[in-house]
Amino acid sequence: MQSFVDEEVSVNITVFLGAPGSGKGTQAKILSSDGKYIHLSTGDILRNAIKTQTPLGKEAKVFMDKGELVPDATVISLIEDTLKTLSPDAQIILDGFPRTVPQAEALDAKGTTKVKSAIFFDIPNSALIERLTGRRVCRNCGQPYHVKHMPPKKAGVCDVCSGEVYQRSDDTEEVVVRRLEVFGSQNQGLLDYYSRLNKLWNLSADRSPQEIQKSLIEVLK
Ligand code: AMP
Repeated sequence: MQSFVDEEVSVNITVFLGAPGSGKGTQAKILSSDGKYIHLSTGDILRNAIKTQTPLGKEAKVFMDKGELVPDATVISLIEDTLKTLSPDAQIILDGFPRTVPQAEALDAKGTTKVKSAIFFDIPNSALIERLTGRRVCRNCGQPYHVKHMPPKKAGVCDVCSGEVYQRSDDTEEVVVRRLEVFGSQNQGLLDYYSRLNKLWNLSADRSPQEIQKSLIEVLK
């Protein structure tokens, strides 16, 4: 089993679990906007590595383009390296990690990191295809949009930073279907893992971002 070996690392972590498109990233962005929380998204880190063509990016792209998971060993050491750079009293929201039980175990190994709670963004699959295929994102700041429900004021231009608003290459219907299958195959194991530890919260995520944010703040208190 992989483990987080650096005994110095001691950070407070809230894990966001849920299908792609369930709103984890949107909520993590809102919560981290005032600096109280640090939002770490493995998907964002990997996309950045692809953009800058690092060896990690080259390895990850092969899996991401097909909607498959990047191997555990790769993402575990990625998160391990990132956590080491953070202040010990940082409050972290992990979005998109862990995605498998071995990743969850690695995060808990050695007791060097502290997962306070795991919040499951619960939403029926039927709502997700439309959400994901209509999703657009700012290439520069990551601000999410939706072609129908939340378009930018000016087509293709981010309201926040004027960056380019684009469609992720893995938000096409074919890849979305595979990502949802992959999520379905791993999710129950993760829910069982955190439920056994008494850390699991269920959050109904088929609601407006404002309503979800209110419930989240209650859970995080
Ligand atoms: P996301 O932005 O969280 O939807 O992630 C996009 C893609 O990045 C996923 O479909 C995976 O290919 C990859 N990825 C992100 N996080 C992980 C992870 N924890 N484990 C394995 N692959 C991941």
